[in-house]
Amino acid sequence: MATSTIQDLELIRDSVKALCEKFPESYWRETDENDEYPEEFIKALTNEGWLSVLIPEEYGGAGLGMLEAGIILEEINRSGGNSGAGHAQMYTMGAILRHGSEEQKQRFLPKIASGELRLQAFGITEPTAGSDTTSITTTAVKQGNKYIVNGQKIFISRTEHSDLMLLIARTTPKDQAAKKTDGISLFILDMKDQQDNITIQPIETMINHATTEVFFENVEIPEENLIGVEGKGFKYVLSGMNAERILIASESLGDGKYFVDKSVQYANERVVFNRPIGQNQGVQFPISQSYMDIEAATLMRDKAAKLFDEGENCGEEANMAKYLSTESTWKAANAAMDTFGGYGFAKEYHIERKFREARLFIVAPVTNNLITTYIGQHVLGLPRSF
Ligand SMILES: Cc1cc2nc3c(=O)[nH]c(=O)nc-3n(C[C@H](O)[C@H](O)[C@H](O)COP(=O)(O)OP(=O)(O)OC[C@H]3O[C@@H](n4cnc5c(N)ncnc54)[C@H](O)[C@@H]3O)c2cc1C
Repeated sequence: MATSTIQDLELIRDSVKALCEKFPESYWRETDENDEYPEEFIKALTNEGWLSVLIPEEYGGAGLGMLEAGIILEEINRSGGNSGAGHAQMYTMGAILRHGSEEQKQRFLPKIASGELRLQAFGITEPTAGSDTTSITTTAVKQGNKYIVNGQKIFISRTEHSDLMLLIARTTPKDQAAKKTDGISLFILDMKDQQDNITIQPIETMINHATTEVFFENVEIPEENLIGVEGKGFKYVLSGMNAERILIASESLGDGKYFVDKSVQYANERVVFNRPIGQNQGVQFPISQSYMDIEAATLMRDKAAKLFDEGENCGEEANMAKYLSTESTWKAANAAMDTFGGYGFAKEYHIERKFREARLFIVAPVTNNLITTYIGQHVLGLPRSF
């Protein structure tokens, strides 16, 4: 993997900023109001190669690392945009890269890098299992040279805008598996090929995230689309979660920096009682405090990304980065709402939209309760609660 210098990282920031300037906040407000997928933005991001930076050069990507990828997402969100429309591809393709066969890498990665194929959907969550992933009940039963999938997923985002879905399903029921984490398998599902057996129902949510409920009825997946060894999929998903957490932390940091930038600007400009509102410590302190928290969270994200790129175990740092980023950003979001007063609620100021978007990361892709549990049990050695 190529190592970036500070100058390289600045160049990435500036280039992504320049692209984002073509998609101003009015663009994001409009897609939000119309519940529209930001198709033009995703195309531009793909065409400039930003979505494929983590794919090695031999498969058509830029072969960069986690910090560079994080900075790309951070800048999109800092510009007022929402990288949630494209972020998943960055971490889902890691399953193919790290656990797929050479044939799968050749078959999928160059097309994902060029934008010919989209791998934007990640099918984990189920209505009855929730955060307890090992309790999923969607099944994949081997018949000849294919798997037959039946079941249901919920809150699966971007399914209508993706060709492929990275899907987990049980190949052995939980009560027959040696361990609860065994018997789960990971597949690349070609949704376009199986569209007659897949029902997708959009879920209306408080943000524009193209999330859906998905029903599988005798969906066929050829055996060559099984990733790695049958029954070991949970391990592969877990190994991708550190990447996911670092990238989500980065997006959240972008939101946090957006709130601080906007709050500072507004607090300097808005004059009430014959002085800028930022002169009042009641307005100034929450902005300064969230700025400090966000800067500290950025250091943790940087540390996690560095460890990830060096191939070291970064579970502790990736989880802490996700927690610290999302909590400090939420603090900044509330500081911005307070700074803007009534105007924070007015759509033309964009704060209310970013406020809704920033809240997601405390819940998805993993709740901060589960992150805290990880730190308690796996880092500090406290008793397991589940
Ligand atoms: C907009 C959006 C997009 C999403 N996109 C995707 C996607 O693309 N793919 C996908 O697979 N999923 C997706 N999700 C699902 C998301 O990952 C889940 O909502 C999340 O993991 C929580 O699961 P749950 O909603 O079932 O909550 P539950 O598991 O029902 O939890 C509810 C609450 O109880 C808490 N809780 C539960 N058990 C414990 C415990 N043992 N200790 C402490 N607290 C606990 C949780 O922290 C949470 O606060 C998305 C969700 C949303 C809202």
